[in-house]
Amino acid sequence: MYCPFCAAQDTKVIDSRLVAEGHQIRRRRQCFECQERFTTFETAELVMPRIIKNDGNRQPFDEEKLRAGLMRALEKRPVSAEHIETLITQLKSALRATGEREVESKLIGNILMEKLKDIDQVAYVRFASVYRSFQDIKEFGEAIAGLDDKSAK
Ligand SMILES: [Zn+2]
Repeated sequence: MYCPFCAAQDTKVIDSRLVAEGHQIRRRRQCFECQERFTTFETAELVMPRIIKNDGNRQPFDEEKLRAGLMRALEKRPVSAEHIETLITQLKSALRATGEREVESKLIGNILMEKLKDIDQVAYVRFASVYRSFQDIKEFGEAIAGLDDKSAK
């Protein structure tokens, strides 16, 4: 691909490795012209189910929006960017595994929250509050109670 810095057409791959449990290839490239280095990610393009929002509207699965939400929830938490990619990959596999053409948005929230609970509890509560935009304090309390169950085991 062209160099994103100087648009030169010749760039070379200097490193290549599997990430996100083998569902992605991360490549480091270098430009022959300006010597700048940059990273590309390669993933298989698979059809994702459409998302049914709470108000009944349908919209395409938006990976960027999801990533942004996760980044926000995991800000300043000990969770690596690569871990976030793994999380997204697992979510996409789970959604495709339903075999449905449309899934409810709360399914996404539930899958992610289940996984986040194991990864980082602070992130879990933060994500839950953003994602579900808690209707009342009771729901928030239930999320906290869910954490207690976990740590009691
Ligand atoms: Zn260049």
